[in-house]
Amino acid sequence: MKVLVQFSGGKDSQASLIWAVNKYGKKNVVAVFCNTHWEHELTYKHIDYVVQDLGVQLVTLDSVGFLQLARQKKRFPSVMARFCTDHLKIRPFIDFLLDNVSTNVIIVQGIRAQESQSRARMSAQCSYFRYYVEPFGHDRHGKPKTHSYRKKDVLAWRAVYADDVIRPVFDWSGQEVIDYILANNQKPNPLYYQGSQRVGCYPCVLSSMSALKAHFERNPDLAKEISALEDELQSPFFKWDAVRPELRTGTVKGKSVTFSRAVDIDQYIRDKNSTLNLFEDDTPSCSSYYHLCE
Ligand code: SF4
Repeated sequence: MKVLVQFSGGKDSQASLIWAVNKYGKKNVVAVFCNTHWEHELTYKHIDYVVQDLGVQLVTLDSVGFLQLARQKKRFPSVMARFCTDHLKIRPFIDFLLDNVSTNVIIVQGIRAQESQSRARMSAQCSYFRYYVEPFGHDRHGKPKTHSYRKKDVLAWRAVYADDVIRPVFDWSGQEVIDYILANNQKPNPLYYQGSQRVGCYPCVLSSMSALKAHFERNPDLAKEISALEDELQSPFFKWDAVRPELRTGTVKGKSVTFSRAVDIDQYIRDKNSTLNLFEDDTPSCSSYYHLCE
């Protein structure tokens, strides 16, 4: 039996990894990291620090990478077309399981109910391939929908091995997660000290305005670098309607639509920066959202 912890370098998966080591012993635990090739350099360093400090094996799963995937698709992902998670994280993990693991597994995930409504509908325990054998919804004709990626291989693997999922921090708050990490003498990802509420791709296409404000302030070249990519793909990186129509400078060849480029959003934030309470979930003045300032 192997315990595989899906480790992103974020606080929830870090606490879950520590929990797994405490419960099963470090020899039985493997941290599995899906490399999107689009993480902040501090996250890569943090991942190495965490696994070395805990003494657990790290498996890094490669993929085509965020940027190459966007170039292949000729667009950036979005809320409505979130192909990044599927191609960069879910499929590489399924491939790893099917092609490299021949034993019963417990998969530990750092998912918290408080993060979103869809996550709140999950449970603290289930099976990884559950939605290959039972429907997760229905299409508009009422036909049940199940997952299909490598379905034949999945069903054959599942017929032999256990695929239990445990989510140890499911009912925890973000602050409880941070407190658990600190209580176990580890440090959270340094990005949390810089005001990040979430850690993942840097930046993530789904970044909130307050997260973008923090990113652009700390990395003055970021907006220009992202906009150069937006111009190349003629596709918005962030929310296409993040700023008012008259402030949008993104264009698509042969079409009359415009979209918000990263530099438009950056400019909008700068123009509004003197306004207090600009965003509802703005970062506290100490920079650390989780009260990490010393
Ligand atoms: S962190 Fe954001 S950009 Fe990266 S895979 Fe997830 S949704 Fe996509």
